[in-house]
Order: sequence, then C-alpha cells, then structure tokens
Amino acid sequence: MSGTATADPVDTYVRGREFKMLLGGEFVDAEGGRRVEAVDPSTGETVAELPEASRQDVSNAIDAAQHAQTAWKALGVDGRGACFRRFGELLVERREELAMLDAIDSGNPVTAMRIDIDISMPYVTAWPQLARWLAGEMIPATPGNLHYTSFVPYGVVGRITAFNHPVMFAATRPLPALITGNTVVMKPAPQTALSTLGLAELFAEAFPPGVMNVITGGAEPGDALVTDPRIKRIAFTGSVPTGLLIQRRAAESGHVKHLSLEMGGKNAMVVFPDVDVPEVVEGAIFGMNFNVCQGQSCGSNSRVLVHRAIYDEFVEQAATELRNYTVGVAYADGTDMGPLVSAQHRERVRGYLERGVSEGAELVTGGEHPAGAPAGGYYMTPAVFAGVKPRMAIAREEIFGPVMSVLPWDNYDEMIELANGVDLGLTASVWTHDLDLAHRTADRLDAGYVWVNDSTRHYMGTPFGGTKDSGIGREESREELLSYMETKVVHTRLRDPHAAFARMTSL
Ligand code: NAD
Repeated sequence: MSGTATADPVDTYVRGREFKMLLGGEFVDAEGGRRVEAVDPSTGETVAELPEASRQDVSNAIDAAQHAQTAWKALGVDGRGACFRRFGELLVERREELAMLDAIDSGNPVTAMRIDIDISMPYVTAWPQLARWLAGEMIPATPGNLHYTSFVPYGVVGRITAFNHPVMFAATRPLPALITGNTVVMKPAPQTALSTLGLAELFAEAFPPGVMNVITGGAEPGDALVTDPRIKRIAFTGSVPTGLLIQRRAAESGHVKHLSLEMGGKNAMVVFPDVDVPEVVEGAIFGMNFNVCQGQSCGSNSRVLVHRAIYDEFVEQAATELRNYTVGVAYADGTDMGPLVSAQHRERVRGYLERGVSEGAELVTGGEHPAGAPAGGYYMTPAVFAGVKPRMAIAREEIFGPVMSVLPWDNYDEMIELANGVDLGLTASVWTHDLDLAHRTADRLDAGYVWVNDSTRHYMGTPFGGTKDSGIGREESREELLSYMETKVVHTRLRDPHAAFARMTSL
C-alpha cells in the first residue's frame, strides 16, 4: 500500500535548518527562546523546532507592521505590484523546496503541494491587476455639492490560517490585504508552519521590511493578534469554534474590529438518477480531496446524497476505487494519499468512524492503517460509509478527514431538506444531465458556492465563502479586495459660481 521514499527529503530540506519568524525584516526567535516541535506525520518523528511567539513577540510584529504601513501605502498599486512580481519569481524558484516542506510537515502528498504552489501564481499576478482597476464613485446626490468615495486601508491586518493548505494559504491569503495598502502580521497553524517560515525568506526579499511579518505558535499568539487594539481587521481561516471565539475575543478587546471568517463545511453533493455513475464516482472522489489533503478540506463533498436508483452502484464503485489508493509517505513517489496531520486529529477522525458504526451506518471500506506504511505515521485509508441516516453525527458534523458519508434519497423536496438541514453552508454540488433541474436545484441549495457537474475547484475571481455557520465574507474576488479597505466619502460644498467669480474679479 505505501509508497517508498526515493531520497531523504527530510535531511535535504528540514533537518539541521533553523526556522525563524519574520519581524520587521529580521529573522528572529521567540522571546525567551520558546519553541515547539514540528512533527513529520508520515513517520511521527520530530524533525525540527520552530518559535512559539509570546504576546510580546506579537506586539513587536504589530509595531513593525505599523511602522512600515505609511510608506507601503504611499507606494501605490504599481509600486506594491512590483513587489508582488518579485515574490512570484521567487515562488517559482523555490517551488520544490516549499512543496517538500509542506509534504514533510503536513502529510499532504508532495505532488499536490507542487500544484498548490502553481495554483498560487494566478493570485500573485491577479491581485495587482484587480486593484489597479478599482474605482470609487462620484455621487450626484445633491446640487451644489461634490461627493466622491475613496478607499482607505485599515492599517495592520491580522491574518490567521488553517493547517490544510499551508504554503498556498501563506502565499496567497495575505495578498489582497497587502495590495490595498495594509501591512500584515500572519500566523499560520502550528501543526504546519514550516513552509510559511520557508516562505518568510521570500517575503523578506520581495517586500520592504515590516510589510509582511510572520509569527508562529498556537492560540496564545493568535489571541494576542485578535485582541491588540491596533488591529482593526482580522481575517481568519479555520474551524467554527475558533471563529466564534475570535468574534467574542475581538468584542472583548473593547474595540470594533472587522472580521472575515472562512470556516467549516459539511458539503452536500446531490446526485440525480440520470448521471453516468463512473463519472460521478470520479467526481466525488476528486471532490473529497483525498489526494490533496486526505479529505482535510473545507470544500470537500463529504455528504453525498445519491438517488436510491443508483445508490448501491455508486457505493460499490466508490469503495472499489478507493481500495486501490496508495496511502503512504507524503514525500514518496507514487503516493496518492498521505497521513493525517497529527495523532490528535487522527484520533478525532477515528472517533467519527466509531460513532458512525455505533449509530448503525455501514463502514464499507477504509479507516485502517495501510499495510507497509511506517507504523509511527498517522495514516488512515480512505473511508466510505453507506446506510447513513440524516440524524447521524457522520451526516451532520464536519469530520475534516478521509471519510465520505453516502446517503440515499427518493423524493426531491426531502432531498433539498436533507441537503440544507445542517448548520454549515460552504459548498454544494449538483450532478445531472438535466440543466434546468441543475440550476433550479442550485438555486435551492443553501451554500456560498455551488457546482454543477463539478466539485471542489475554485478560482481567483469567483467569490468563495460560506453561508450560515460557514462564515462571513467572500474571498478571491473584488468583494475580498474591498473588504480590506473602508469607504470614505469626501463631500465638498461648492460655492455659487457667480459669487465665486465676482469675488475673484473684485480682487
Ligand atoms: P483551527 O480553528 O483549529 O485553527 C485555525 C487557526 O486559528 C490556527 O492558526 C490556530 O493556531 C488559530 N487559533 C487557534 N485558537 C485561536 C485563538 N484563540 N485565537 C486566535 N487564533 C487561534 O482550525 P484548523 O484545525 O487549523 O483548520 C481546520 C478548519 O479550518 C476546518 O473547520 C476547515 O473547514 C476550516 N477551513 C476553512 C476554509 C475556508 O476557506 N472556508 C479553508 C481551510 C480550512
């Protein structure tokens, strides 16, 4: 089952390397030398240590970002865009190293992480172009007055990211804040921070000191960032409980803060009986992101609602496909799916497998340690549950792992109720050859992003974000760009031209 490592990328890219935070253009350790271990989930071995920022470190990073902001804003879009260009060049140059850092640190297959870096490039080039074309309004609201709008950056933005797409999040998520004239303090997830610290070297070369700052650690530095009075805008990608806590802590800081929250999904894939089953099985497996991040993806179609006429066929084909998956070392050749991010997270996912079985669902395949994979790694073969009932935990809660729950349906209205009957509303998809039905159904689904005959893909330019508890705001779009600025109106009272001219000629 497991792939074999061709060389030892851990020695090449990680062991013996010093990973430091980036504050004000300087590479620094955490105050008092505080460090946490970085573990390779493919083996369970500690491979490096990284700084664990204190509250004082976070404050220092915000100082640096605040100090740099005025000059950064004054550069204008074109000046800032030139830094983006340099950043893009460096990203291409360092692609292999960054992809390997992700594979070693996160367990995501290196092939997928190379693609994550390639996917990041259009963001680097598109944000400056989009920002170049942003225009305010001249508002003819009242005669004798001139009203126009302008956009003002918040200042320093706090950017907090999740563990599942480490280098892509670090390379792309700060960009809309930066291009609009903000400076950024970014905190990646502690389980997968190595590639962000690698990327810090690129930030240091491409951007003026203090414009991009990287701090590492978990909840403590995250909370320090959220509650600091100088941070007016927080952008968060992560789980619903942490997002709710951030909302509360932001309010408790005693200051008004603008938040965007990109959070979880329990995304319905709706399959009508007219489909080509093998094609839809392929789409479902692709949409689970098994081979990108082991199904640890907010957008995964983890709830597949299949019409009963093709239900058994779908389940059988999906299970057969997934039994052929090669699950093994993330940085080895030929690996389809790597390990889960941590021992703790694998226990959480195993807890859902046990709950599914105890609540009466059938675990058709998966959930095992693959034969031949290193014993210390956090592996789990991809799992398919059949016979899932709407009330079961595996049908309602985000598992964030390689587990696909397949539910049968018979009646259209009941299916819509089922699809919309969870607290999350990030994505959904509709699979049918009947386009009228597809679009009428897309309209009924309560989700921020709905695919027809596709899943999981989203692009710069198409607003991405969720309804209900999945979040606030839309990323990857003009809407996101505007969310990093406040609108200001300038209102000028224009004097009567006769009076103004008379005053001029009487001088
Ligand atoms: P998490 O909520 O545990 O952590 C996310 C980030 O928040 C990390 O950097 C973490 O250190 C930080 N954090 C933790 N406590 C904090 C606090 N008190 N104050 C400030 N920051 C704090 O999430 P995770 O396990 O890293 O990621 C998985 C979750 O992220 C899933 O729910 C997934 O659906 C979601 N996610 C959403 C999207 C999206 O675009 N909608 C994308 C990826 C992941």
